[in-house]
Amino acid sequence: MNILAIGPHPDDIEFGCAPLLIKEIKKGSQVQLLVLSRGEAGSSGTADGRELEARNAARLMGAAIEFMHFAGDCRLQHTPENSLRIAAEIRKFKPAIVLAPHTTENQHPDHTAAARLTRDACRLARYGGLLQPLPAHTVDNLFFYNITQHVGYKPDIVLDISEVMEEWQAVMNCHDSQIKHKSYLDLQKTGARLLGLSIGTEYALGLYVNDPVRVESISDITLSARNF
Ligand SMILES: [Zn+2]
Repeated sequence: MNILAIGPHPDDIEFGCAPLLIKEIKKGSQVQLLVLSRGEAGSSGTADGRELEARNAARLMGAAIEFMHFAGDCRLQHTPENSLRIAAEIRKFKPAIVLAPHTTENQHPDHTAAARLTRDACRLARYGGLLQPLPAHTVDNLFFYNITQHVGYKPDIVLDISEVMEEWQAVMNCHDSQIKHKSYLDLQKTGARLLGLSIGTEYALGLYVNDPVRVESISDITLSARNF
């Protein structure tokens, strides 16, 4: 399966959804990371340094990585032209699953813009009259991830990530410029531990759906989140 993960800044994918990507790569999925800026507006690190950190993290995960250049960090705009550029990348890679930051307001404006651009891009990628001669492509599922896990949030899907915690921490550690001043690793690990409690596992990662999750029959759901 092809999986495309989109992040507006060089560390968003790694902090937000790397554990599930690591699990899928282990199962044989092809994962591509698409980064929409070089993070040059951040308080720490240079654009060159942050791009290198992201490339090292992708290599460690076993994922391919591409950088797209829009108007720069903090200037990402939700426009049809930008959605079409991402839609073209979707047509080239043909992902079954696309991941983007959550659409919620009151976060870094690039995160919200990236979420909206990606949602539109998934739709535009399947419209036959656009982006010729690239053949139209239908994405099966679009999911949103939280860049920072926090107490009290209620994701639609909760994944057991206990077996890849060490790999996740190694991937986050690639972003030395971002973690040396703030304890982001601690924050992510604590959030994952607390969420794990909700499904009876050691660590977990939450996702949000864009559409209802489709199942053939209720008995297909075989994993329990509860110990009654
Ligand atoms: Zn970000």
